[in-house]
Parts: sequence; C-alpha cells; structure tokens
Amino acid sequence: MTTAAEGFERAYGYAPGGVWAAPGRVNLIGEYTDVNEGHVLPVALPQCTRVAAATRTDGVLRLRSREAAGAAELSLAELAPGRVEGWAAYPAGVAWALREAGLPVGGADVYVESDVPAGAGLSSSAALEVATALALTELHGATCDRPALARLAQRAENAFVGVPCGLMDQAASACCTAGHALHLDTRHLALRQVPFDLAAHGLRLLVVDTRVRHALADGAYAARRAGCEAGARALGVRALRDVPYGQLGAALDGLADAGVRRLVRHVVTEGERVRRVAELLGAGEPRAAGPLLTAGHASLRDDFAVSCPELDLAVAVANEAGALGARMTGAGFGGSALALVEEGAAEAVGGAVTAAFAAAGHRPPRVFAAVAGGGAR
Ligand code: ADP
Repeated sequence: MTTAAEGFERAYGYAPGGVWAAPGRVNLIGEYTDVNEGHVLPVALPQCTRVAAATRTDGVLRLRSREAAGAAELSLAELAPGRVEGWAAYPAGVAWALREAGLPVGGADVYVESDVPAGAGLSSSAALEVATALALTELHGATCDRPALARLAQRAENAFVGVPCGLMDQAASACCTAGHALHLDTRHLALRQVPFDLAAHGLRLLVVDTRVRHALADGAYAARRAGCEAGARALGVRALRDVPYGQLGAALDGLADAGVRRLVRHVVTEGERVRRVAELLGAGEPRAAGPLLTAGHASLRDDFAVSCPELDLAVAVANEAGALGARMTGAGFGGSALALVEEGAAEAVGGAVTAAFAAAGHRPPRVFAAVAGGGAR
C-alpha cells in the first residue's frame, strides 16, 4: 500500500485520499461455466493490484500505471465505449459503468501498480477493474455491495473494453476471503465460502505460468461461447447450466452437431466437477479433489479444445512427478496451469515441469505456490 501511495505522490505531486487493493485469482475448477450461467470455484491470489487515488471536483479522470506506458486524461462526461484505447480503457470503463448504473462517481487522479502477472490467465485485468471500482465508489461515498461491484466491473470489460468475459474473475477479486475458495453461482450471484486452507492438510497449490499466450485465443473464445449458445438453443434451455448432469446422455443424443455436442459435454461435466470439488473441500477432503482437476483438464483439452502444448505438458509432467491432480486454469491457449501437490512433493513437481519445458525448448515457466488470499480491500 505504501509504495502505491508513494507512486501516486511522485506522479501527481500530492498525497492520495486512499489506497485500495484487489487480488488476481486462480480458478480451481469450473472453466467456461460462468459464460453458461453456471458455477465456478476460484481462489484469490496473494498478488494484488493497488490503486492509489484522490478525488477531483472537475469531472476529469487522470490515469497512470507503474506497469504501463502512457498517462491518460479523460473527461468523465465524454466517456463512451470505443473511445479509450489501451490499458486506460479498463479503469475508464469502470468509471463509465459505475456512472451508467447511476452511482455518484466523479473525477479522480488514479495511480496503479500491480504484482499480478499480466496476461498470465491470473486476471490482472479484473484486479485492476475491481481495485478501481472500490477506489472510485469509496472516494465518492457511493454504496455498492461486492457482488454488484463485480457485475459492474464485468460490464466495464464487456461493454467498454470489448472483452466478452464471464463474471468469475471480477467476482473472485471482489468477494473471495482468505483461506477459502469462492463457490459462486454466476446466475443468481449466490456465493459460499468453502474452506481452502491447504497448509492445514499438508498440501500446496502450485501455479505454473507458462508465459505463452497463443494468438488464436480471442477468436476461439468467441467461437466457444457461440457454440455453447447454439447448444442451449438446440436443447431449449436458457443456458447450459440448465442441463442436469443426470440427463447429459439424453441431451447429447438430441444434438446433431458433433462440435456442439463436445462443448455441451464439457460444460455439463465441468458443472458436476465444480459441485463435487466444492463438496470435497467442504468435507475437509481436498486430496480427493485431485483426480477431478485432472479430469477437468482432459475435458478442456479434448472436448472444449482450449488447451495448448505448453499447458498439456505442464499438466502431464506435474501428474507424472506425483501431483494429486493438475489442470489448465483460465481461458486457455496459454496462461497458467495449476497442480495440487503434497507439501513434500512441491519442489520435485515444480522442478520436473521446469526441466520438461527446457527439454521441449519452451521459455522457462514461472512456478509459485499459491495461498488463498483475501478479496479486495
Ligand atoms: P489477464 O487478465 O489474464 O492478466 P488480460 O489480457 O485479460 O490478461 O488483461 C491484461 C491487460 O490488463 C493488460 O494488457 C493491460 O491492458 C491491463 N492491465 C493489467 N494490469 C495492469 C496494470 N497494473 N497497469 C496497467 N494495465 C494493466
């Protein structure tokens, strides 16, 4: 918090009114279920984005970031989707979405710094949005509960930045609590904190940032979403979360398009995996979740087709080296994988993945152990 306040002071020449922080996240299980109105189970990372900010009375939003070149100076009254380019679109979009929702948010000077790796599938963008949303609402005395704040941050990303993401990342950043995973029903915004204190069980959650992001990611994301919507239409449901796991066989038999069938199978089986992992964590049996994580990876690789060689390698090698389970996390085509490991095996698993990346000629991955951190504050 101190470095952000100092950064603000260097940038603007006076002290900020406050500093707000919001974490990145890693999703334990429940990939592409949020864009089908289903359930997800993310965990907040200890890594945060911090926003130091102060109120302005002239309706101007000034933006600077330690991580990004270029300062922006924008008039709030003139904000509109498509008008702001680059990183500034995220915080500007948040100001726009809050004001569109009728919240009394005015001008501000904003300074951003972050230790969430950007573009690693760990939701640096959601962390930036949520930290900005919290800063602007609190600075201007606007009241908005956390789930609603997450929805507005998502609206900023969908409508202003132009990325058609689901609600998971913003909700995780806004609503997680330390030592817990967030079991979130993205349709009803119902959330439950599930115990996730791995150290108490002698376990570790390893995150492997592959440091690759394949170019086809954006188009593929839109295509998968369109395929899911086509599946829901063909099955006569509002969204694929409305297909009960017990009726999956019959649902698949009713679908003519083989590609759509595979997408539906992933979303429905993934929903069931979320339910079972949440149940196991609630029962104090995190070890038993391992095979479900690996099954989730197979489903994303084979049915949803959003993995890539680096993610498949990380998962295969982690499992061979003794992980209880492993999977890609986030939207895929690069980004990060996670592995659930016994404390004593963490070093061996991390080392094996790093060695396998070197042998395959990939860039060295960034491997770290994640502890479930708290949400925005
Ligand atoms: P992810 O959210 O998985 O990290 P995205 O590609 O969705 O990846 O979002 C990354 C983008 O978010 C960056 O390219 C940048 O525009 C913006 N961003 C994230 N963190 C910061 C930051 N600290 N300062 C400026 N922009 C940031």
